[in-house]
Amino acid sequence: MKAGGTYFPVFLDLRGAQVLVAGAGKVAARKIDALLAHGAAVTVVAKEFSAPVRRLVEDGRVRGTLSPFRPEHLDGMALAFAATSDPAANRSVAREARRRNIPVNVADVPAECSFILPAVVSGKEFTLAVSTGGKNPGAARAIREFLSDRKAEIAVRIERGRRRRGARGSGGKVYIVGAGPGDPDLLTVRALGLLRGADVVIHDYLVPEEILSLAPAKAARICFARRGKTAGHGSALKQAATNETMARLARAGKSVVRLKSGDPLVFGRGGEEAEFLAAEGIPFEIVPGITAALGCAAAAGVPLTHRDLASTVTLLTGHEADDKARNAIDWTRLPANGTLAVYMGVARVRELARDLVEKGGFSPDTPFAIVENGTRRGQRVLRGRLADLSRLVEEAGIRSPALLFVGKTAEYALAGRRDQENIEERNDGPVAQSV
Ligand code: SAH
Repeated sequence: MKAGGTYFPVFLDLRGAQVLVAGAGKVAARKIDALLAHGAAVTVVAKEFSAPVRRLVEDGRVRGTLSPFRPEHLDGMALAFAATSDPAANRSVAREARRRNIPVNVADVPAECSFILPAVVSGKEFTLAVSTGGKNPGAARAIREFLSDRKAEIAVRIERGRRRRGARGSGGKVYIVGAGPGDPDLLTVRALGLLRGADVVIHDYLVPEEILSLAPAKAARICFARRGKTAGHGSALKQAATNETMARLARAGKSVVRLKSGDPLVFGRGGEEAEFLAAEGIPFEIVPGITAALGCAAAAGVPLTHRDLASTVTLLTGHEADDKARNAIDWTRLPANGTLAVYMGVARVRELARDLVEKGGFSPDTPFAIVENGTRRGQRVLRGRLADLSRLVEEAGIRSPALLFVGKTAEYALAGRRDQENIEERNDGPVAQSV
């Protein structure tokens, strides 16, 4: 017989059902609470009541009988629990219940039970019950823990199942998900659940293999952006192809995870994609991620704000600074006494330093820290002063992806974080797909 095969698994509707609990100690109280939560009409019989059980009786939530167990206490009962501290008394509850064909559970004595209680995991829309037939409660608990850890993923799969059934081939959904800066440990629980439940993953070039491999092997992977490409005509084509693909697959009923590095709404075009999906009437959800500025700050020990050094944080792109067709950055209005976090700036460090000093009024002496491959294998941190920025970046051969911090906080390093040297390396994280 299979494990658990002695017992037939069922879920009982106990609303309004008469249930006898013999015993009024800790174990009995736990059973009574669970029974009340499921709407049962509970009678408790015991020689004495523990304080919590007495309160329930006094409040009228439970009927109480102060007495040793007698067979007639089972009259009219649909279910019985024996949870006294006296094994002989428990045995007699079990024997009398069986004689009357009333299902009975004896706490911790499977041999005397006609039904046993599974280990339970419940979510908003589901209840999972695990049993080893009473033979191995430790294993049942271990399975429960395993399932508990995967609640987010289970919820995602339930959503997907419901859509598939309800919408007859249509009605997929697009999840615009932030993958964080690169270290898989920095994914959100929701992002992990969605990835594991994905039919298709459409990702950025910056999302590392370690994260992509968390999707099921059978999930399709698509990446339109190729390394070395810059913004412009090619990127508009890629965006159109991405949008078209998301829409087509969602319409085919797929769970599409649009996976973006960092946060989708920070220099990630998540907003544009959401707008497109809304216009097409395709359901979507945005799941935030740890943006590079936060990931790199933590990795390099740069406090983005600090009571003495910085009261503001400004996220800006170094990429489109000269692109007058877009909202160019107003260098004269950058807060001088805060932290600047510059995305996509490596290729333009020389111009960036010049703009900050000449237009922004920053002192050439202002500290910077640049974090290459933040949170990934090969992470490097380079520190110096704005006047030396482009020379140091060139000498060190810093490449994208890298994030530049400018401000007094950039030179501050949390205790134990800073080496004597300018360059700190880390070699234990995932490898970045270089740009
Ligand atoms: N949506 C992303 C940003 C995408 S723009 C986010 O919220 O982080 C790409 C830029 O992000 C890169 O040019 C680089 O400046 C920065 N970046 C992303 N990941 C990085 C990492 N692991 N280390 C350093 N910079 C990173």
